[in-house]
Amino acid sequence: MSKSKIWIFIILFCSGWMGAQSKTNTSEVPHPKLVVGIVVDQMRWDYLYRYYDKYGNDGFKRMLNTGYSVNNVHIPYIPTYTAVGHTSIFTGSVPAIHGIAGNDWYDRDLKQSVYCTSDDQVQPIGTESKKDGQHSPHRLLATTITDQLRLATNFQGKVVGVSLKDRASILPAGHNPNAAFWFDDSTGNFITSSYYMQNLPQWLKDFNAKKYPEQLLKEGWNTLLPIEEYTESSPDDVKWEGLLGSVEKPVFPYKNLSQDYKKSHGIIRATPFGNTLTLKLAEAALSGYQLGEDNITDFLTINMASTDYVGHMFGPNSIEVEDTYIRLDRELASFFKYLDGKIGKGNYTVFLSADHGGAHSIEFMKEHQMPADFYQLSSRSLNPILQNKFGSGQLISTIMNNQVYLNREEIEKNNLDFNEVEKFVISEISKNPAVIFVESMKKVGSASIPEPIKTRIINGYNWNRSGDIQVIMKDGYLSSSNKTGTTHGAWNSYDSHIPLLFMGWGIEKGETNKAYSMTDIAPTLAALLKIQFPSGTVGVPITEVLGE
Ligand code: ZN
Ligand code: ZN
Ligand code: ZN
Repeated sequence: MSKSKIWIFIILFCSGWMGAQSKTNTSEVPHPKLVVGIVVDQMRWDYLYRYYDKYGNDGFKRMLNTGYSVNNVHIPYIPTYTAVGHTSIFTGSVPAIHGIAGNDWYDRDLKQSVYCTSDDQVQPIGTESKKDGQHSPHRLLATTITDQLRLATNFQGKVVGVSLKDRASILPAGHNPNAAFWFDDSTGNFITSSYYMQNLPQWLKDFNAKKYPEQLLKEGWNTLLPIEEYTESSPDDVKWEGLLGSVEKPVFPYKNLSQDYKKSHGIIRATPFGNTLTLKLAEAALSGYQLGEDNITDFLTINMASTDYVGHMFGPNSIEVEDTYIRLDRELASFFKYLDGKIGKGNYTVFLSADHGGAHSIEFMKEHQMPADFYQLSSRSLNPILQNKFGSGQLISTIMNNQVYLNREEIEKNNLDFNEVEKFVISEISKNPAVIFVESMKKVGSASIPEPIKTRIINGYNWNRSGDIQVIMKDGYLSSSNKTGTTHGAWNSYDSHIPLLFMGWGIEKGETNKAYSMTDIAPTLAALLKIQFPSGTVGVPITEVLGE
Protein backbone atom coordinates (compact mmCIF):
# COMPACT_ATOMS: atom_id res chain seq x y z
CA MET A 1 0.00 0.00 0.00
CA SER A 2 1.50 3.42 -0.98
CA LYS A 3 1.88 6.18 1.60
CA SER A 4 -0.99 8.25 0.16
CA LYS A 5 -3.27 5.19 0.14
CA ILE A 6 -2.43 4.54 3.79
CA TRP A 7 -3.40 8.13 4.62
CA ILE A 8 -6.67 7.82 2.73
CA PHE A 9 -7.33 4.59 4.63
CA ILE A 10 -6.60 6.21 7.99
CA ILE A 11 -8.82 9.21 7.19
CA LEU A 12 -11.68 6.99 6.04
CA PHE A 13 -11.29 4.73 9.07
CA CYS A 14 -11.29 7.64 11.53
CA SER A 15 -14.22 9.44 9.91
CA GLY A 16 -16.18 6.19 9.92
CA TRP A 17 -15.30 5.64 13.55
CA MET A 18 -16.20 9.22 14.52
CA GLY A 19 -19.46 8.93 12.56
CA ALA A 20 -20.33 5.82 14.50
CA GLN A 21 -19.42 7.60 17.75
CA SER A 22 -21.67 10.56 17.05
CA LYS A 23 -24.54 8.16 16.37
CA THR A 24 -24.28 6.27 19.65
CA ASN A 25 -22.61 8.73 21.98
CA THR A 26 -25.57 11.02 22.55
CA SER A 27 -26.86 11.52 26.05
CA GLU A 28 -30.18 9.82 25.34
CA VAL A 29 -31.62 7.34 22.84
CA PRO A 30 -32.50 9.34 19.72
CA HIS A 31 -36.17 8.96 18.83
CA PRO A 32 -38.96 10.74 16.94
CA LYS A 33 -41.64 12.64 18.83
CA LEU A 34 -44.37 10.85 16.95
CA VAL A 35 -44.93 7.92 14.61
CA VAL A 36 -47.94 8.10 12.30
CA GLY A 37 -48.99 4.86 10.62
CA ILE A 38 -51.36 5.38 7.68
CA VAL A 39 -53.01 2.29 6.19
CA VAL A 40 -54.85 3.08 2.95
CA ASP A 41 -57.56 0.45 2.66
CA GLN A 42 -57.47 -1.55 -0.62
CA MET A 43 -54.58 0.53 -2.03
CA ARG A 44 -52.82 -1.44 -4.75
CA TRP A 45 -49.12 -0.61 -5.09
CA ASP A 46 -49.61 0.40 -8.73
CA TYR A 47 -51.87 3.33 -7.73
CA LEU A 48 -48.70 5.21 -6.73
CA TYR A 49 -47.70 5.32 -10.38
CA ARG A 50 -50.99 4.85 -12.18
CA TYR A 51 -52.18 8.28 -10.97
CA TYR A 52 -48.68 9.76 -10.43
CA ASP A 53 -49.09 12.54 -12.99
CA LYS A 54 -52.28 13.69 -11.29
CA TYR A 55 -50.77 13.88 -7.80
CA GLY A 56 -49.46 17.16 -6.36
CA ASN A 57 -45.94 17.50 -4.95
CA ASP A 58 -46.76 17.36 -1.23
CA GLY A 59 -48.80 14.16 -0.72
CA PHE A 60 -47.76 10.78 -2.13
CA LYS A 61 -44.92 12.46 -4.05
CA ARG A 62 -43.51 14.02 -0.89
CA MET A 63 -43.23 10.51 0.56
CA LEU A 64 -41.83 9.08 -2.69
CA ASN A 65 -39.33 11.87 -3.30
CA THR A 66 -38.09 12.69 0.19
CA GLY A 67 -38.63 9.34 1.91
CA TYR A 68 -38.03 5.66 1.20
CA SER A 69 -40.21 3.49 -1.02
CA VAL A 70 -40.13 -0.29 -0.69
CA ASN A 71 -41.56 -1.29 -4.06
CA ASN A 72 -42.06 -5.01 -3.73
CA VAL A 73 -43.88 -5.70 -0.51
CA HIS A 74 -46.29 -8.64 -0.55
CA ILE A 75 -48.76 -10.10 1.89
CA PRO A 76 -47.46 -13.52 3.02
CA TYR A 77 -50.81 -15.20 3.83
CA ILE A 78 -54.41 -15.61 2.74
CA PRO A 79 -57.13 -14.44 3.19
CA THR A 80 -56.17 -10.86 2.29
CA TYR A 81 -58.85 -9.00 4.25
CA THR A 82 -58.91 -5.79 6.30
CA ALA A 83 -58.69 -7.14 9.85
CA VAL A 84 -55.95 -9.58 8.92
CA GLY A 85 -53.95 -6.94 7.03
CA HIS A 86 -54.03 -4.37 9.80
CA THR A 87 -53.13 -6.98 12.40
CA SER A 88 -50.25 -8.36 10.34
CA ILE A 89 -48.79 -4.90 9.68
CA PHE A 90 -48.82 -3.98 13.35
CA THR A 91 -47.81 -7.37 14.82
CA GLY A 92 -45.23 -8.28 12.15
CA SER A 93 -46.95 -11.65 12.28
CA VAL A 94 -49.38 -13.92 10.41
CA PRO A 95 -52.88 -15.30 11.19
CA ALA A 96 -51.46 -18.70 12.21
CA ILE A 97 -49.87 -16.88 15.15
CA HIS A 98 -51.76 -13.61 15.81
CA GLY A 99 -55.14 -15.34 15.53
CA ILE A 100 -57.00 -12.80 13.38
CA ALA A 101 -57.87 -15.37 10.71
CA GLY A 102 -60.40 -13.23 8.82
CA ASN A 103 -62.77 -10.32 9.32
CA ASP A 104 -65.10 -13.11 10.44
CA TRP A 105 -64.50 -16.77 11.05
CA TYR A 106 -66.44 -19.78 12.32
CA ASP A 107 -66.17 -20.44 16.03
CA ARG A 108 -66.48 -24.21 16.49
CA ASP A 109 -67.38 -23.91 20.18
CA LEU A 110 -70.08 -21.29 19.68
CA LYS A 111 -71.19 -23.00 16.43
CA GLN A 112 -71.56 -19.66 14.69
CA SER A 113 -69.48 -17.15 12.81
CA VAL A 114 -67.82 -14.46 14.94
CA TYR A 115 -66.61 -10.99 13.96
CA CYS A 116 -62.94 -10.28 14.72
CA THR A 117 -63.48 -7.48 17.28
CA SER A 118 -67.02 -8.12 18.58
CA ASP A 119 -67.04 -8.42 22.38
CA ASP A 120 -70.22 -8.70 24.45
CA GLN A 121 -68.21 -8.19 27.64
CA VAL A 122 -67.77 -4.46 26.87
CA GLN A 123 -70.29 -1.65 26.54
CA PRO A 124 -70.73 0.88 23.73
CA ILE A 125 -69.50 4.38 24.62
CA GLY A 126 -70.98 7.31 22.68
CA THR A 127 -73.83 5.30 21.14
CA GLU A 128 -76.74 3.11 22.13
CA SER A 129 -75.93 0.68 19.34
CA LYS A 130 -74.49 -2.56 20.72
CA LYS A 131 -73.61 -3.80 17.26
CA ASP A 132 -71.52 -0.71 16.56
CA GLY A 133 -70.11 -0.20 20.03
CA GLN A 134 -69.34 -3.57 21.57
CA HIS A 135 -65.82 -4.09 20.27
CA SER A 136 -62.35 -4.77 21.67
CA PRO A 137 -59.07 -6.47 20.70
CA HIS A 138 -59.81 -9.51 22.92
CA ARG A 139 -59.33 -12.02 20.07
CA LEU A 140 -55.89 -10.64 19.15
CA LEU A 141 -53.30 -13.17 20.39
CA ALA A 142 -50.03 -11.27 19.79
CA THR A 143 -48.71 -7.86 20.82
CA THR A 144 -48.53 -5.00 18.32
CA ILE A 145 -45.72 -2.52 17.68
CA THR A 146 -47.95 -0.01 19.46
CA ASP A 147 -48.16 -2.34 22.50
CA GLN A 148 -44.36 -2.60 22.42
CA LEU A 149 -44.05 1.19 22.45
CA ARG A 150 -46.33 1.30 25.50
CA LEU A 151 -44.19 -1.36 27.22
CA ALA A 152 -40.88 0.24 26.22
CA THR A 153 -41.87 3.67 27.55
CA ASN A 154 -43.43 2.28 30.71
CA PHE A 155 -46.81 3.40 29.33
CA GLN A 156 -45.72 7.03 28.95
CA GLY A 157 -45.69 6.98 25.14
CA LYS A 158 -49.28 7.49 24.01
CA VAL A 159 -51.08 5.36 21.40
CA VAL A 160 -54.30 6.29 19.61
CA GLY A 161 -56.10 4.56 16.72
CA VAL A 162 -58.67 6.14 14.36
CA SER A 163 -60.73 4.77 11.47
CA LEU A 164 -64.26 4.62 10.12
CA LYS A 165 -63.98 0.83 10.64
CA ASP A 166 -63.95 -0.60 14.17
CA ARG A 167 -61.48 -3.36 13.22
CA ALA A 168 -59.07 -0.95 11.49
CA SER A 169 -58.96 1.31 14.53
CA ILE A 170 -58.87 -1.36 17.25
CA LEU A 171 -56.37 -3.91 15.92
CA PRO A 172 -53.52 -1.47 15.00
CA ALA A 173 -53.81 0.28 18.38
CA GLY A 174 -53.23 -3.02 20.21
CA HIS A 175 -54.18 -4.18 23.69
CA ASN A 176 -53.32 -1.15 25.76
CA PRO A 177 -53.75 2.11 23.83
CA ASN A 178 -54.93 5.42 25.23
CA ALA A 179 -57.85 5.28 22.82
CA ALA A 180 -59.35 3.78 19.68
CA PHE A 181 -62.23 5.52 17.90
CA TRP A 182 -64.43 4.43 14.99
CA PHE A 183 -67.51 5.65 13.12
CA ASP A 184 -71.01 4.75 14.24
CA ASP A 185 -73.53 4.52 11.38
CA SER A 186 -76.46 4.79 13.79
CA THR A 187 -75.50 8.29 15.02
CA GLY A 188 -72.95 9.63 12.52
CA ASN A 189 -70.53 10.10 15.43
CA PHE A 190 -67.15 8.65 16.34
CA ILE A 191 -67.45 6.27 19.27
CA THR A 192 -65.49 3.78 21.36
CA SER A 193 -66.18 1.05 23.93
CA SER A 194 -65.79 0.55 27.68
CA TYR A 195 -62.67 -1.50 26.93
CA TYR A 196 -60.94 1.87 26.52
CA MET A 197 -62.84 4.40 28.64
CA GLN A 198 -66.14 5.10 30.38
CA ASN A 199 -66.88 8.42 28.64
CA LEU A 200 -65.97 10.07 25.36
CA PRO A 201 -63.37 12.82 25.98
CA GLN A 202 -64.78 16.36 25.83
CA TRP A 203 -62.81 17.22 22.68
CA LEU A 204 -64.48 14.29 20.87
CA LYS A 205 -67.93 15.30 22.06
CA ASP A 206 -67.19 18.76 20.64
CA PHE A 207 -65.93 17.20 17.41
CA ASN A 208 -69.08 15.07 17.04
CA ALA A 209 -71.30 18.08 17.79
CA LYS A 210 -69.91 19.89 14.74
CA LYS A 211 -71.67 17.32 12.47
CA TYR A 212 -68.85 17.30 9.93
CA PRO A 213 -70.40 14.49 7.83
CA GLU A 214 -73.36 16.74 6.97
CA GLN A 215 -71.04 19.62 6.03
CA LEU A 216 -68.79 17.38 3.94
CA LEU A 217 -71.68 15.87 1.95
CA LYS A 218 -73.60 19.12 1.46
CA GLU A 219 -72.16 19.88 -1.99
CA GLY A 220 -72.40 16.28 -3.20
CA TRP A 221 -69.47 14.62 -4.99
CA ASN A 222 -68.12 15.86 -8.28
CA THR A 223 -64.70 15.16 -9.78
CA LEU A 224 -61.92 17.38 -8.41
CA LEU A 225 -60.44 17.87 -11.92
CA PRO A 226 -62.46 18.27 -15.14
CA ILE A 227 -63.85 14.79 -15.82
CA GLU A 228 -62.29 14.55 -19.30
CA GLU A 229 -58.85 14.57 -17.65
CA TYR A 230 -59.44 11.15 -16.01
CA THR A 231 -57.80 9.35 -18.91
CA GLU A 232 -56.45 6.60 -16.63
CA SER A 233 -59.97 5.23 -16.06
CA SER A 234 -62.93 3.65 -17.90
CA PRO A 235 -65.88 5.83 -18.98
CA ASP A 236 -68.04 6.96 -16.05
CA ASP A 237 -71.15 5.00 -16.97
CA VAL A 238 -70.31 1.30 -17.26
CA LYS A 239 -72.37 -1.71 -16.25
CA TRP A 240 -69.83 -3.05 -13.72
CA GLU A 241 -70.07 -0.03 -11.39
CA GLY A 242 -72.39 -0.22 -8.39
CA LEU A 243 -74.99 2.40 -7.52
CA LEU A 244 -74.20 4.80 -4.68
CA GLY A 245 -77.20 5.77 -2.56
CA SER A 246 -80.30 6.76 -4.51
CA VAL A 247 -78.69 7.27 -7.94
CA GLU A 248 -79.98 5.50 -11.05
CA LYS A 249 -76.67 5.57 -12.90
CA PRO A 250 -73.09 5.34 -11.55
CA VAL A 251 -72.14 8.79 -12.83
CA PHE A 252 -70.87 12.16 -11.60
CA PRO A 253 -72.02 14.43 -10.11
CA TYR A 254 -73.44 12.53 -7.12
CA LYS A 255 -75.83 15.23 -5.98
CA ASN A 256 -78.13 13.49 -3.50
CA LEU A 257 -75.59 12.57 -0.84
CA SER A 258 -77.05 14.96 1.74
CA GLN A 259 -80.49 13.39 1.39
CA ASP A 260 -79.06 9.89 1.24
CA TYR A 261 -77.03 10.54 4.41
CA LYS A 262 -80.21 11.37 6.32
CA LYS A 263 -81.54 7.90 5.49
CA SER A 264 -78.26 6.05 6.03
CA HIS A 265 -75.23 7.63 7.69
CA GLY A 266 -73.04 4.84 6.39
CA ILE A 267 -73.13 6.33 2.90
CA ILE A 268 -70.25 8.67 3.76
CA ARG A 269 -68.00 5.61 3.88
CA ALA A 270 -68.26 5.07 0.11
CA THR A 271 -67.30 8.66 -0.76
CA PRO A 272 -63.86 10.34 -0.53
CA PHE A 273 -65.29 12.46 2.30
CA GLY A 274 -65.01 9.52 4.68
CA ASN A 275 -61.24 9.96 4.40
CA THR A 276 -61.56 13.73 4.91
CA LEU A 277 -63.57 13.10 8.06
CA THR A 278 -61.04 10.57 9.40
CA LEU A 279 -58.09 12.94 8.88
CA LYS A 280 -60.05 15.69 10.66
CA LEU A 281 -60.49 13.29 13.58
CA ALA A 282 -56.76 12.44 13.45
CA GLU A 283 -55.92 16.14 13.80
CA ALA A 284 -58.39 16.52 16.66
CA ALA A 285 -56.93 13.46 18.40
CA LEU A 286 -53.39 14.85 18.04
CA SER A 287 -54.49 17.94 19.95
CA GLY A 288 -56.83 16.09 22.29
CA TYR A 289 -54.08 13.74 23.51
CA GLN A 290 -51.17 16.18 22.97
CA LEU A 291 -49.48 13.61 20.77
CA GLY A 292 -45.88 14.41 19.83
CA GLU A 293 -45.70 17.27 22.28
CA ASP A 294 -43.36 15.87 24.93
CA ASN A 295 -40.06 14.05 24.66
CA ILE A 296 -41.47 10.52 24.62
CA THR A 297 -42.49 8.92 21.33
CA ASP A 298 -46.25 8.68 20.69
CA PHE A 299 -47.97 6.63 17.99
CA LEU A 300 -51.08 7.51 15.96
CA THR A 301 -52.60 4.86 13.68
CA ILE A 302 -54.90 6.01 10.89
CA ASN A 303 -56.91 3.86 8.48
CA MET A 304 -58.20 5.50 5.29
CA ALA A 305 -61.25 3.28 4.84
CA SER A 306 -63.13 5.08 2.07
CA THR A 307 -60.70 3.89 -0.62
CA ASP A 308 -61.93 0.37 0.20
CA TYR A 309 -65.65 1.16 0.13
CA VAL A 310 -65.30 3.14 -3.11
CA GLY A 311 -63.19 0.33 -4.60
CA HIS A 312 -65.77 -2.31 -3.66
CA MET A 313 -68.55 -0.28 -5.23
CA PHE A 314 -66.93 0.91 -8.47
CA GLY A 315 -63.84 -1.24 -9.13
CA PRO A 316 -60.20 -0.20 -9.70
CA ASN A 317 -60.67 1.16 -13.22
CA SER A 318 -63.35 3.70 -12.30
CA ILE A 319 -63.18 7.48 -12.31
CA GLU A 320 -64.67 7.24 -8.82
CA VAL A 321 -61.60 5.39 -7.51
CA GLU A 322 -59.20 7.69 -9.36
CA ASP A 323 -60.89 10.77 -7.94
CA THR A 324 -60.79 9.29 -4.45
CA TYR A 325 -56.99 8.87 -4.73
CA ILE A 326 -56.44 12.33 -6.23
CA ARG A 327 -58.41 13.81 -3.33
CA LEU A 328 -56.61 11.64 -0.78
CA ASP A 329 -53.29 12.89 -2.18
CA ARG A 330 -54.33 16.52 -1.58
CA GLU A 331 -55.55 15.68 1.91
CA LEU A 332 -52.36 13.85 2.85
CA ALA A 333 -50.46 16.96 1.69
CA SER A 334 -52.38 19.20 4.06
CA PHE A 335 -52.16 16.63 6.87
CA PHE A 336 -48.35 16.51 6.51
CA LYS A 337 -48.32 20.31 6.51
CA TYR A 338 -50.35 20.23 9.73
CA LEU A 339 -47.82 17.82 11.27
CA ASP A 340 -44.93 20.06 10.15
CA GLY A 341 -46.53 22.97 11.97
CA LYS A 342 -47.54 21.07 15.07
CA ILE A 343 -44.74 18.55 15.63
CA GLY A 344 -42.04 20.12 13.44
CA LYS A 345 -40.65 18.89 10.13
CA GLY A 346 -38.17 16.09 10.77
CA ASN A 347 -39.47 15.39 14.29
CA TYR A 348 -41.96 12.72 13.25
CA THR A 349 -41.89 9.54 11.18
CA VAL A 350 -44.74 8.57 8.85
CA PHE A 351 -45.27 5.26 7.14
CA LEU A 352 -47.97 4.45 4.62
CA SER A 353 -49.05 1.02 3.49
CA ALA A 354 -52.19 -0.97 2.68
CA ASP A 355 -54.03 -3.87 4.26
CA HIS A 356 -54.57 -5.53 0.83
CA GLY A 357 -55.17 -4.59 -2.81
CA GLY A 358 -58.13 -5.43 -5.02
CA ALA A 359 -58.94 -7.29 -8.24
CA HIS A 360 -60.28 -5.65 -11.38
CA SER A 361 -64.03 -5.92 -11.93
CA ILE A 362 -65.01 -9.14 -13.69
CA GLU A 363 -67.03 -7.53 -16.48
CA PHE A 364 -64.25 -5.01 -17.13
CA MET A 365 -61.73 -7.84 -17.48
CA LYS A 366 -64.05 -9.88 -19.70
CA GLU A 367 -64.67 -6.91 -21.96
CA HIS A 368 -60.90 -6.67 -22.46
CA GLN A 369 -60.34 -10.41 -22.98
CA MET A 370 -58.49 -10.88 -19.69
CA PRO A 371 -58.96 -13.99 -17.52
CA ALA A 372 -61.71 -13.48 -14.95
CA ASP A 373 -65.09 -14.95 -14.06
CA PHE A 374 -67.56 -15.52 -11.27
CA TYR A 375 -67.64 -18.59 -9.05
CA GLN A 376 -70.03 -20.20 -6.61
CA LEU A 377 -68.94 -22.25 -3.62
CA SER A 378 -71.46 -23.08 -0.94
CA SER A 379 -72.26 -25.74 1.61
CA ARG A 380 -75.85 -25.70 0.35
CA SER A 381 -74.86 -27.47 -2.87
CA LEU A 382 -72.34 -29.81 -1.21
CA ASN A 383 -74.27 -31.04 1.83
CA PRO A 384 -76.92 -32.94 -0.24
CA ILE A 385 -74.11 -34.78 -2.08
CA LEU A 386 -72.63 -35.73 1.29
CA GLN A 387 -76.07 -36.87 2.43
CA ASN A 388 -76.14 -39.35 -0.45
CA LYS A 389 -72.63 -40.58 0.19
CA PHE A 390 -72.48 -40.67 4.01
CA GLY A 391 -76.09 -40.47 5.19
CA SER A 392 -75.76 -37.03 6.83
CA GLY A 393 -76.59 -33.72 5.22
CA GLN A 394 -74.81 -31.62 7.86
CA LEU A 395 -71.20 -32.65 7.42
CA ILE A 396 -70.10 -29.15 6.39
CA SER A 397 -70.68 -26.50 9.08
CA THR A 398 -69.96 -23.61 6.75
CA ILE A 399 -67.70 -22.28 4.00
CA MET A 400 -66.09 -18.93 4.82
CA ASN A 401 -63.01 -17.17 3.46
CA ASN A 402 -62.80 -19.96 0.83
CA GLN A 403 -62.23 -22.43 3.66
CA VAL A 404 -64.46 -25.42 4.36
CA TYR A 405 -65.29 -26.03 8.03
CA LEU A 406 -66.18 -29.70 8.45
CA ASN A 407 -68.68 -30.53 11.19
CA ARG A 408 -66.45 -32.59 13.48
CA GLU A 409 -69.25 -33.47 15.91
CA GLU A 410 -71.54 -34.66 13.12
CA ILE A 411 -68.72 -36.78 11.64
CA GLU A 412 -68.14 -38.40 15.03
CA LYS A 413 -71.83 -38.86 15.74
CA ASN A 414 -72.25 -40.79 12.50
CA ASN A 415 -69.14 -42.90 13.15
CA LEU A 416 -67.53 -41.57 10.00
CA ASP A 417 -63.82 -41.27 9.31
CA PHE A 418 -62.75 -37.60 9.25
CA ASN A 419 -60.05 -38.19 6.61
CA GLU A 420 -62.45 -40.03 4.35
CA VAL A 421 -65.06 -37.27 4.54
CA GLU A 422 -62.39 -34.64 3.96
CA LYS A 423 -61.01 -36.49 0.94
CA PHE A 424 -64.47 -36.81 -0.58
CA VAL A 425 -65.25 -33.10 -0.06
CA ILE A 426 -61.93 -32.21 -1.71
CA SER A 427 -62.71 -34.39 -4.72
CA GLU A 428 -66.18 -32.87 -5.07
CA ILE A 429 -64.88 -29.27 -4.85
CA SER A 430 -62.16 -30.01 -7.40
CA LYS A 431 -64.93 -30.57 -9.96
CA ASN A 432 -65.79 -26.86 -9.74
CA PRO A 433 -64.35 -25.28 -12.91
CA ALA A 434 -63.29 -22.13 -11.02
CA VAL A 435 -61.04 -24.06 -8.63
CA ILE A 436 -57.30 -24.37 -9.28
CA PHE A 437 -56.20 -25.97 -5.97
CA VAL A 438 -58.09 -27.53 -3.08
CA GLU A 439 -56.25 -29.16 -0.21
CA SER A 440 -56.54 -30.23 3.41
CA MET A 441 -55.01 -27.51 5.61
CA LYS A 442 -52.99 -30.11 7.48
CA LYS A 443 -51.50 -31.60 4.29
CA VAL A 444 -50.66 -28.39 2.43
CA GLY A 445 -46.97 -28.71 3.36
CA SER A 446 -46.55 -31.83 1.21
CA ALA A 447 -49.02 -30.92 -1.55
CA SER A 448 -48.09 -30.08 -5.15
CA ILE A 449 -48.94 -26.42 -4.78
CA PRO A 450 -46.31 -23.90 -5.95
CA GLU A 451 -44.78 -21.18 -3.83
CA PRO A 452 -45.73 -18.62 -2.74
CA ILE A 453 -49.29 -20.02 -2.54
CA LYS A 454 -48.26 -22.90 -0.29
CA THR A 455 -46.61 -20.66 2.29
CA ARG A 456 -49.49 -18.20 2.14
CA ILE A 457 -51.94 -20.99 3.00
CA ILE A 458 -49.78 -22.24 5.89
CA ASN A 459 -49.28 -18.70 7.29
CA GLY A 460 -53.01 -18.05 7.07
CA TYR A 461 -54.01 -21.30 8.75
CA ASN A 462 -54.89 -20.84 12.41
CA TRP A 463 -55.65 -24.36 13.63
CA ASN A 464 -58.40 -23.24 15.98
CA ARG A 465 -60.09 -20.57 13.86
CA SER A 466 -59.55 -21.49 10.19
CA GLY A 467 -61.40 -24.11 8.16
CA ASP A 468 -60.20 -27.65 7.44
CA ILE A 469 -59.92 -27.34 3.66
CA GLN A 470 -58.52 -24.42 1.66
CA VAL A 471 -59.90 -23.65 -1.80
CA ILE A 472 -57.84 -21.55 -4.24
CA MET A 473 -59.63 -20.08 -7.26
CA LYS A 474 -58.27 -19.40 -10.72
CA ASP A 475 -56.79 -15.94 -11.31
CA GLY A 476 -59.35 -13.16 -11.45
CA TYR A 477 -62.29 -15.25 -10.19
CA LEU A 478 -64.55 -13.48 -7.70
CA SER A 479 -67.51 -14.92 -5.86
CA SER A 480 -70.75 -14.31 -7.71
CA SER A 481 -71.97 -11.77 -5.15
CA ASN A 482 -69.62 -9.28 -6.86
CA LYS A 483 -71.59 -8.53 -10.03
CA THR A 484 -70.51 -4.90 -9.75
CA GLY A 485 -67.36 -3.35 -8.32
CA THR A 486 -64.77 -5.69 -6.91
CA THR A 487 -63.38 -7.48 -3.88
CA HIS A 488 -60.14 -8.96 -2.50
CA GLY A 489 -59.02 -11.90 -0.38
CA ALA A 490 -56.86 -13.97 -2.76
CA TRP A 491 -53.11 -14.75 -2.85
CA ASN A 492 -52.62 -13.11 -6.26
CA SER A 493 -50.51 -9.97 -6.67
CA TYR A 494 -53.54 -7.79 -7.40
CA ASP A 495 -54.60 -8.47 -3.80
CA SER A 496 -51.19 -8.99 -2.16
CA HIS A 497 -48.85 -6.35 -3.63
CA ILE A 498 -49.03 -3.31 -1.33
CA PRO A 499 -47.27 0.07 -1.16
CA LEU A 500 -44.82 0.77 1.65
CA LEU A 501 -43.48 4.30 2.10
CA PHE A 502 -41.55 5.81 5.00
CA MET A 503 -40.77 9.49 5.54
CA GLY A 504 -39.31 11.79 8.17
CA TRP A 505 -37.24 11.21 11.30
CA GLY A 506 -34.64 8.44 10.94
CA ILE A 507 -35.63 7.58 7.37
CA GLU A 508 -33.21 7.36 4.47
CA LYS A 509 -34.16 8.77 1.05
CA GLY A 510 -34.37 6.15 -1.68
CA GLU A 511 -36.16 3.10 -2.98
CA THR A 512 -35.62 -0.61 -3.47
CA ASN A 513 -37.12 -3.27 -5.71
CA LYS A 514 -36.00 -6.06 -3.39
CA ALA A 515 -38.82 -8.34 -2.23
CA TYR A 516 -40.09 -7.73 1.29
CA SER A 517 -43.07 -8.84 3.31
CA MET A 518 -45.89 -7.03 5.07
CA THR A 519 -44.59 -8.62 8.28
CA ASP A 520 -41.32 -6.66 7.93
CA ILE A 521 -43.04 -3.34 8.69
CA ALA A 522 -43.35 -3.78 12.48
CA PRO A 523 -39.74 -4.98 12.99
CA THR A 524 -38.49 -2.06 10.87
CA LEU A 525 -40.35 0.30 13.21
CA ALA A 526 -38.98 -1.57 16.23
CA ALA A 527 -35.44 -1.10 14.88
CA LEU A 528 -36.11 2.60 14.22
CA LEU A 529 -37.45 3.13 17.75
CA LYS A 530 -34.93 0.76 19.38
CA ILE A 531 -37.68 -1.20 21.10
CA GLN A 532 -38.56 -4.91 21.36
CA PHE A 533 -40.24 -6.68 18.43
CA PRO A 534 -43.93 -7.53 18.91
CA SER A 535 -44.37 -10.98 20.45
CA GLY A 536 -45.39 -12.89 17.30
CA THR A 537 -43.07 -11.17 14.82
CA VAL A 538 -41.88 -13.37 11.96
CA GLY A 539 -40.50 -10.53 9.77
CA VAL A 540 -37.14 -8.75 9.71
CA PRO A 541 -36.20 -5.04 9.67
CA ILE A 542 -35.87 -3.50 6.21
CA THR A 543 -32.41 -2.08 6.84
CA GLU A 544 -32.25 0.06 3.66
CA VAL A 545 -35.07 2.21 5.03
CA LEU A 546 -32.90 3.03 8.06
CA GLY A 547 -29.84 3.80 5.93
CA GLU A 548 -27.95 0.65 6.90
ZN1 ZN B 1 -59.36 -3.45 3.84
ZN1 ZN C 1 -68.94 5.94 -12.71
ZN1 ZN D 1 -62.50 -4.46 1.37
